[in-house]
Amino acid sequence: MSETPALMRVRIAPSPTGPFHIGTARTALFNLLYARRHGGTYIVRVEDTDVARSTTDFERDILEGLRWLGLEADEGVRGDGGEIGAHGPYRQSARGERYREVAAELLAKDLAYPCFCTAAELDAERMAREARKLPPRYSGRCGTIAPADAATRVAAGESAALRFRIPAGAVVIDDLVRGRVEIDAEALGGDLVILRADGSPLYHFTVVVDDADMGITHVIRGEDHLSNTPKHILLFQALGVPLPRFAHLPLILNPDRTKMSKRKSQTALADYQAEGFLQEALINFLALLGWSTGSEDEILSMDELQGRFDLEHVQKAGAVFDRVRLEWINGQWIRKLPVDELLLRLRPFYDAAAADGRIARVASDAELAKLLPIIRERIQLLSAAIPLTDFLFTDRVEHDPALLVPKRWDAATTIAGLEAARPILADGIGEGEPLLLEADDPLEAKLRGVAEAAGWKAGDLFMALRVAATGRTATPPLFDSMRLLGGAALLSRIDAAIARLRTA
Ligand code: GLU
Repeated sequence: MSETPALMRVRIAPSPTGPFHIGTARTALFNLLYARRHGGTYIVRVEDTDVARSTTDFERDILEGLRWLGLEADEGVRGDGGEIGAHGPYRQSARGERYREVAAELLAKDLAYPCFCTAAELDAERMAREARKLPPRYSGRCGTIAPADAATRVAAGESAALRFRIPAGAVVIDDLVRGRVEIDAEALGGDLVILRADGSPLYHFTVVVDDADMGITHVIRGEDHLSNTPKHILLFQALGVPLPRFAHLPLILNPDRTKMSKRKSQTALADYQAEGFLQEALINFLALLGWSTGSEDEILSMDELQGRFDLEHVQKAGAVFDRVRLEWINGQWIRKLPVDELLLRLRPFYDAAAADGRIARVASDAELAKLLPIIRERIQLLSAAIPLTDFLFTDRVEHDPALLVPKRWDAATTIAGLEAARPILADGIGEGEPLLLEADDPLEAKLRGVAEAAGWKAGDLFMALRVAATGRTATPPLFDSMRLLGGAALLSRIDAAIARLRTA
């Protein structure tokens, strides 16, 4: 039997200390695409060692967000919070024993040592270095205590953290995106605390123990972790396990090239979801955030991305988050969706609008289906369908005289225009009208005739009708809008508009 090569295993390791972040989504996507391209396994591990800041609500938000995007784990923590796989547990909060076990091994090999320094002593050390304008760095003082003496003090109950000895020399990262990066271990801040005095493990340690235990072959993560990687490499070496390959993804930047951050930018995935961005469009956009197809193709499905993704085309320079492009991509995907599917995606937006009173009643599937042809060409966001069509689901339109009266007209002309159009509309528009869409509407020619006979510009008459029928100056095409509304509602709105102008 031939030997099976080691299978690729990648992971996304979110910390549930905030809502699901767009940067985490991008990292998850790149990991999944890389795994799919190479027949690997994509693992989700929850890094909840920071007990004070981690919450189950944030965890749920992240896991559900991953599932919604189609980035649910092959192995590890799934969208419903359950775990699958043979390398678990996959939540760091459940792995405490394992971290203490590995820490004990490092201690036994003298690769780590107990540190008895108090917080006050460490503060004094840090301030003394600060006064000399030196970067913070632990002196290594407790590293010189003879192991037997240290063990005696620990056994006697003296409080001690555990520090990993950072060996001197250069650490080389052979990064799949950035190439060779060399960092002097001198710059790493001195020996590293891996267990606090209360026995709780720290991030740099847990991440390495987990990556080793879970057989991770490729660590693909944001460039903000690049400065941590030398510490991780030294820990992998101390554990005597093979190093994974590393790939650091470019930072995501605001248009002004500052780092995209929770405080300054919209970073929560749920906010994009609520605005009506489609899963397909977000995946498409995120894939292009730091990676390029090497071609002009811009609209790519998850399947296509899985067939094309590679790390060679990941750029080193920061990737600017271009909201305009995201909206454009979303519009493309809205027009690509089959109508039945588009209806399903719009449904929650109409239901929410009915629930909070933006529209007066729930829109039926049949009504929505009828609207789709005019909606789908005109929106970039699902939520934009509501202001475009709310006039159809409203009992009363509030007419603003300032909008009703076209720029070149006065109130009297507007009243005359609406009165002249009224009988033609009464005659030409019934209930449950089919849409004529692209076809010429015979009513248009008739109303143009009315305008011409009176010496008006047809555009002015149409604007007055548009505002009378919908309350708005921007709507779907006028004749379709009026037919959708139906004759009875249309005429009563025209009458209300005339009455409003008479009292204005
Ligand atoms: N838990 C880390 C974070 O949320 C990720 C660590 C890693 O990918 O190595 O940033």
